[in-house]
Amino acid sequence: MLEVRHLTAAYGQHPALQEVSLRVGPGEIVVILGANGAGKSTLLRAISGICEGQVHGDILLDGHRLLGLTSDEIVERGVALVPEGRGIFGDLTVRENLTLGAYANRARADETGNLDRVLRLFPKLQERQGQIARTMSGGEQQMVAIGRAMMSAPQILMLDEPSLGLSPLLCKELFQNLREVKALGIGILLVEQNAKQSLAIADRGYLLENTRIVHEDSATKLATDPAVQKAYLGAGSAAAKVKTPEPAAAEPIPARPTIEARPLQQRTADQQIGLSIEDLVQSAAKRSETPPPTAALAPRATDSSNATRLQSVLHDIERAAAEARKRPAAPPTAASDTDAIPTKYRRNTDTEIEGPPPVIEVYRRPRVEVYRRRPSGQFERD
Ligand code: ATP
Repeated sequence: MLEVRHLTAAYGQHPALQEVSLRVGPGEIVVILGANGAGKSTLLRAISGICEGQVHGDILLDGHRLLGLTSDEIVERGVALVPEGRGIFGDLTVRENLTLGAYANRARADETGNLDRVLRLFPKLQERQGQIARTMSGGEQQMVAIGRAMMSAPQILMLDEPSLGLSPLLCKELFQNLREVKALGIGILLVEQNAKQSLAIADRGYLLENTRIVHEDSATKLATDPAVQKAYLGAGSAAAKVKTPEPAAAEPIPARPTIEARPLQQRTADQQIGLSIEDLVQSAAKRSETPPPTAALAPRATDSSNATRLQSVLHDIERAAAEARKRPAAPPTAASDTDAIPTKYRRNTDTEIEGPPPVIEVYRRPRVEVYRRRPSGQFERD
């Protein structure tokens, strides 16, 4: 039996654990749930003798004090830690990693028996004994880490977030493996973020909040505790759904502030010219059927009506376009562009207009020319 009594840990002035008490029996899985920074890793490190802070209180294994012993001595007594991030030797083979776990005197006498036990527990490691550990998947590396800790023949196995970074399938496999470790009579102290799966395999659990244990209960009760569901199981979990209040009783969702559509301050083009676009189009259509009297064009400058001005402009555009369509393409000429522009042009209403005709721009596709550089260094067009 592992017992922690009134354990306090601090990093300088910063308290990381305060008055923490817990116990783990043989063949029992105990889970510690807590938010980031609550002190979970500090707790496991303090029990293992590797906490960098100042630790006070009592840690007992079968009544024998562990606090104050070195980490090697603590492993020798029967407490092994699988640290967060696994801590395996990536450049060594699986077999070498496992063998290194058997350095404790308590394990050396039965190294072969321990290895058999580990390989039975993780048959995948049996096939992969010669594989370099870093080339294995995350889940397989986690098996190596647990296997190595198991090689020290522990009474208590502690794991710090073993499911971190594993796919849901590998997580399932990992928690199944822990059940099998438990079946060997080994006590497991598990720090996990995956509350749902860890509570599913655990016997008991503790809530560690802000350096203190605030609650202890059986895993079954914790899994259905509304506070635990809210904090660690998420609103969408199956367990949480059981306790979800009826929609009618639910807290009303505050109404969103409504944003009222306000009229634009800017005046539209219609408002500015006093005509709608539809009016303009209809008017342009009429004009193209009945050619307007020339007088309609000439007095543009004196006509104060916006509508008439717009109609005249539209008419001019239509006429210019029609003129351009009828005109034959100009033959290439040596004369300059300015010489080619006539000074007068005739509308199809037989009215002669002074000045150059309107220019209709035609956009061509860009021409791409490819040049190749010859060995001589000269460029030639392809
Ligand atoms: P997480 O789930 O994020 O790993 P945790 O519950 O395991 O968090 P700890 O790692 O135990 O939390 O850290 C508890 C507090 O102690 C944190 O505020 C952390 O910043 C601080 N702490 C941890 N290790 C050290 C250290 N070596 N030196 C100083 N402060 C530390």
